[in-house]
Amino acid sequence: MGALSHAGVFAPPANDADGRRDIVGLDRTELTDLLVELGLEAFRARQVWHWIYHRGATDFETMTTLARPVRQRLAESLTIGRPGVSRDLQSEDGTRKWLLRMRDGQEFETVHIPEEDRGTLCVSSQVGCTLTCRFCHTGTQRLVRNLEAGEIVGQVMMARDAIGEWPAPKDGRLLSNIVMMGMGEPLYNYENVAKALRIVMDGEGIAISKRRITLSTSGVVPMMKRCGEELGVNLAVSLHAVTDELRDRIVPINRKYPLAELLEACRTYPGLSNARRITFEYVMLKGVNDSAADARELVRLLRGIPAKINLIPFNPWPGAPFERSDWKQIERFADLVNAAGYASPVRTPRGEDIMAACGQLKSDSMRLSAAERAAMAAVIAEKEAAQAL
Ligand code: SAH
Ligand code: SF4
Repeated sequence: MGALSHAGVFAPPANDADGRRDIVGLDRTELTDLLVELGLEAFRARQVWHWIYHRGATDFETMTTLARPVRQRLAESLTIGRPGVSRDLQSEDGTRKWLLRMRDGQEFETVHIPEEDRGTLCVSSQVGCTLTCRFCHTGTQRLVRNLEAGEIVGQVMMARDAIGEWPAPKDGRLLSNIVMMGMGEPLYNYENVAKALRIVMDGEGIAISKRRITLSTSGVVPMMKRCGEELGVNLAVSLHAVTDELRDRIVPINRKYPLAELLEACRTYPGLSNARRITFEYVMLKGVNDSAADARELVRLLRGIPAKINLIPFNPWPGAPFERSDWKQIERFADLVNAAGYASPVRTPRGEDIMAACGQLKSDSMRLSAAERAAMAAVIAEKEAAQAL
């Protein structure tokens, strides 16, 4: 039985071992219904919401605006969960990576990247990924399942706990931005991601605005419009190649949704304007996609789309079949793109010493033997067969 058949099928248990229900990840309506079921008044939901998502409470006993019997009733049946932290690694540059463990034992990673004027949390949407982009470490991971909404919000809450930011200040937050750029393809787990982001954006709680949230997709064309209409978050698209021939090979979802369809979906992304551009991510792979001709073709393809181009120097991982482009080549590429009028920052790799940079996330350890590499190739073949890509 292939790993893919597990994706989204085996949801983790919603209850703690003692049978109490974890309420992180419920939307307001679900929380209200649940409290009413417990015999409490509906308006309590709003109070509880404030304690959980604004104050960061993890214990009903601390909710001092609730009468003691109400707190007791809540604590009897409910919990306010957090992901378990299996590992907590800090890079020399301040980047921090957590390996989180869920109730069913599955693990995935979350990364915090502090910068001068902001702090960005790189959030995962799946354990592993069903896709197999050739340059991405997550793509080689066999085990895949969708994360529940509570597990996605839980990453933000755990990070807030760790950096001590409850309640969050209005300005100067250490966790001010969110990018759905961790493990997994967020648009293949849309319902849970959408539910989680609505909770994160809720003004009476974590309150991170849609303008500070970016969702990155490898190009799940049929879901892009909904994402723009329903969530209104910023979109980043993992382009990485300017011909179908190459993109078919390195971003295999291209075989399902080729460049022309992808770019059309970008052109019509709801809310797109010069003030709200799509970010096109382009990983710089030495001798593969980094020539001057590629840069010119990129500019031609994106004509008419309000766009930013984000050049990402390839981040290596053990056994990866590519090398990072030479710095001079990256500069030449960036110059050509800049000359065409695009802002094209080169993304500085962060947290490389702890394998926390883009595309390096993978929850099980990677051995380097030839046998392992062969096994990896087999996993990719199996995943692609299951996807019929
Ligand atoms: N699944 C989503 C989110 C992923 S990760 C997506 O593919 O868009 C964020 C970015 O890192 C993507 O653009 C991804 O293609 C890129 N990436 C993956 N592996 C990388 C690597 N080894 N080096 C640099 N960037 C990488
Ligand atoms: Fe999945 Fe994104 Fe990695 Fe591709 S780049 S394998 S879509 S996580």
